[in-house]
Amino acid sequence: MELDSEDEYIVREEDVRDNIHEKTFEDYLDGSHVLDKMYKNGKIWYQLPFGSIVLEEWLIFKTKTQFLDVFRDYCIQESFSVSVDHVDSKRYIARCLMRDCTWRIYALVLRDKVSWAIKKLEGEHATCGRLEENPMISSAWLCKQLLQDLEANLNVPVDLLQRLCMKRYMIHVKLRLLYKVKSLAREQLHGGFAESYPALPKYAEMIKSTNLGSYALVTWTDSLQFKACFISFTVQVRGFLGGCGPIIGIDVAHLNGYYKGVMLTAVAIDGNNEIFVLVYGIVDTESIDSWTYFFRNLRCLFAQYES
Ligand SMILES: [Zn+2]
Repeated sequence: MELDSEDEYIVREEDVRDNIHEKTFEDYLDGSHVLDKMYKNGKIWYQLPFGSIVLEEWLIFKTKTQFLDVFRDYCIQESFSVSVDHVDSKRYIARCLMRDCTWRIYALVLRDKVSWAIKKLEGEHATCGRLEENPMISSAWLCKQLLQDLEANLNVPVDLLQRLCMKRYMIHVKLRLLYKVKSLAREQLHGGFAESYPALPKYAEMIKSTNLGSYALVTWTDSLQFKACFISFTVQVRGFLGGCGPIIGIDVAHLNGYYKGVMLTAVAIDGNNEIFVLVYGIVDTESIDSWTYFFRNLRCLFAQYES
């Protein structure tokens, strides 16, 4: 698509005067390139905080991704959603989701094939009102907004996050979505299961070197896939020997995370009549083989204390 003639550009010198920002690539334009005039006649997007985003014609974005990100923020800020009429590598055309609304946006890629600009904004949201639940609010968008809060405290209750979203962004978010956001944030901050499993040998070594007398064993298949682990901290065994009755109970719990598996535990009852965990192990399934693995290691564990 060809750009319109230069006459259609509006030079906004007052905007340049009023908006003094840190140096950006706009400051390096020297008029030597055909794109320089285009950038100078438009207005380059500067990050505005949520709540004060304003879209206007010939607002220029560095990339299509930046345009789509800002556009999504704007829709959520203004509490409306869009139906996309056309989208490809050159154009983006969308209208307000409400049937009778006349609001439209036309954006296009510029001649450098990287930057995007809003070419036209038409109509008003005269009778739309605010959407109670905006479908443009995705778990990825929310995670990006709440990541700093969740980094400070990943155990924050979801109902508190729900109130925070209403107060800060004026949006209602379902609790189900917030649970998803928390698990996404956990993955972004601490890595997912896929990154955690290869770190297990290092974890086992760390347990043994920082808690002398601890028992940590990780077992792998011939093709170097995780098979089982058996872990007991030294204080658990010492606590059992020093303050629990001489009975060990065993239990099993099926794990419902991404990789499934089964957790086997050995527990005792402490002086307060409460459950005292001695050992836990993770195996692929509950079977004679896996229980044999567990008991064999339990025996080895106590053999350390017999002498
Ligand atoms: Zn509308």
